[in-house]
Amino acid sequence: MIRALPVTVRPVDGETSESYFQRLASVNSVPAESLWGYLRQLHAGLPVKRNAELATTELEHLGGLPSAWFSLNRQHHLLPIRCPHTRWQFAICPTCSCLPAETSGCVRCAHGKATRVTTRTGPICLHHKRWHHESSDIDIAEMPSHLAAEKAFRGTLTNRGISLATGELTLANQLAHAWSSTEPISTEEDGTRFFLLFPATVKLAIALTDPEFVELLLNPHWSPSEHATLLSMTITAVLGHPERSDSGVLWKTVNHHASAVTVAYGMVGTRRRSRNCTMERAFFTAAYTHRACLLRHLDARHMPKISNPGQGRRAPSAQRLAMLQRA
Ligand SMILES: [Zn+2]
Ligand SMILES: [Zn+2]
Repeated sequence: MIRALPVTVRPVDGETSESYFQRLASVNSVPAESLWGYLRQLHAGLPVKRNAELATTELEHLGGLPSAWFSLNRQHHLLPIRCPHTRWQFAICPTCSCLPAETSGCVRCAHGKATRVTTRTGPICLHHKRWHHESSDIDIAEMPSHLAAEKAFRGTLTNRGISLATGELTLANQLAHAWSSTEPISTEEDGTRFFLLFPATVKLAIALTDPEFVELLLNPHWSPSEHATLLSMTITAVLGHPERSDSGVLWKTVNHHASAVTVAYGMVGTRRRSRNCTMERAFFTAAYTHRACLLRHLDARHMPKISNPGQGRRAPSAQRLAMLQRA
């Protein structure tokens, strides 16, 4: 039995085991390498190169935490996913669901210390009303639209499998930038741009990933100009003003997703072991193989059947799809 260290700290919600390991070593004034070496003496199975993920039970003992703290916290923050086990509806799948990408946590929640977290939240701590994305610490108590956006992010976007690092948010941010009524923000200032446009980005991401909207945007019977008009009108309605200038991102989005739809239709019916590839599997797979994130939000059962889609690339195996989802 490993005894708790003389000084312990509480992990913040969603804190990674490596972040907690480093904080424990720091508050006890022990070099992280020495603490890892100590754990390896007790458990020879641990690798030479530090990997705190493999030592969560030992960490819980060192920090005096309840048993299984890390695994329970992990389950709490898994993102919903569409997969064969969830009948292609967004839900938590014990096999396929992943944690959101790692980001920096709220400094105030950790009593002034830097932390790394994987949580089903946005870049804002609602308790302290601070923007904490990428190691920043900005007071947003007087910015109600940011606070409302954070609540919408947690309430709607995470239920659609979206985190700070998924493509939907990047796409919504690019479109919000193209529609921004302010002066163009330099591309060198991605962090600033993300901060300023966060409320617009969340609103757009919610609209763009609405299943009924995606169904129209990806309808193969519509022309590219009809798709572009629909997308432009939707963004203008959500943000309340027209595009600032012709940025090209609108057409790029339309064309890229249209070609992914073609790829998906080509997969339907191709042989996959003993079964034929279904519409659901084809569209979900094309979202990853073609990096067309809006396809993830499509209910393929509502897509029109195409009489002669032309046999295309075979759908990848379940293992390959799982790898693509984690990439
Ligand atoms: Zn699954
Ligand atoms: Zn906080």
